[in-house]
Amino acid sequence: MTADLISGTEIRKTILEELKKEVADMKAQHGTVPGLVTILVGENPASQSYVRLKIKTAEELGFKEIQDNQADTISEADLLTLIDKYNNDPEIHGILVQLPLPDHIDDKKVLNAIDPDKDVDGFHPVNVGRLMIGGSEVKFLPCTPAGIQEMIIRSGTETSGAEVVVVGRSNIVGKPIAVMMAQKGEGANATTTIVHTRTKDLEGHCKRADILIVAAGVPGLVKPEWIKPGATVIDVGVNRVGTSEKTGKAILKGDVDFDKAKEIAGKITPVPGGVGPMTIAMLMKNTVQSAKFAIEAK
Ligand code: NAP
Repeated sequence: MTADLISGTEIRKTILEELKKEVADMKAQHGTVPGLVTILVGENPASQSYVRLKIKTAEELGFKEIQDNQADTISEADLLTLIDKYNNDPEIHGILVQLPLPDHIDDKKVLNAIDPDKDVDGFHPVNVGRLMIGGSEVKFLPCTPAGIQEMIIRSGTETSGAEVVVVGRSNIVGKPIAVMMAQKGEGANATTTIVHTRTKDLEGHCKRADILIVAAGVPGLVKPEWIKPGATVIDVGVNRVGTSEKTGKAILKGDVDFDKAKEIAGKITPVPGGVGPMTIAMLMKNTVQSAKFAIEAK
């Protein structure tokens, strides 16, 4: 058996097309476009490239986008003042602060200063609390878990009553996706188990999973024989395992042995081209959502 491929690259394309249309309609009907600001402190090349990608995507969708570059000498107090300025700007619906920040600045203090109603990353404690409550309380889902759930829904995987096993308990992937899958609602209503390094029988848990979500950051951790035949496998892991001699680019592998797993699973995400491309699409979706909330609140 060969599994159906769940392509994040394809799903992202569809989502961005849907969002582009929503933005055009919003502009025509309300004269509002989503506004997104990305604050970048310093000149970390990896951060610069992430920010460029976010800004380029926002531009393509017709957002108002601001890339606010600050020197790495900015004081914590000045950065907090800057965030306050965007918190109070009605044309800005999403505020992102690119991490890492310089050592003299307290990340947590800065991220917690973002208005939770503009926290399109979904990491503010208020939004984490809203996620736990679920239903109409939820404003912004954290982007990578939201991307995972969207892939599960759009691949036609049945979640209601399904056994979902999540490998990993991080705050950015494992914990939120486990909670989201257990909530009432579309793409949820599952029975969820979280496993981690202290779990006694990792293999036994994985073997029960109708939907196996792996976010451990350990290449090839999940063996093909741990996969239930026909299961949906979402591989979140992105591991650099070498450099291609041909292209000079990093060789990326997931947490699942893809070539063998695809012969057992019913549906599976590749790495690269799986969960990775979804994250920015969900960030854009949150920003459009935030603009809609602002219009409703007028
Ligand atoms: P993390 O904070 O390092 O958490 C990893 C989790 O996996 C921890 O809970 C850890 O358990 C668990 N784990 C590690 N080794 C294990 C093992 N041998 N057996 C069982 N559990 C194990 O990682 P993360 O930030 O969640 O990221 C996980 C992976 O997803 C990484 O490869 C990362 O690059 C990737 N990722 C991709 C995207 C994207 O594609 N957009 C976004 C975020 C992350 P303990 O808690 O017990 O230590």
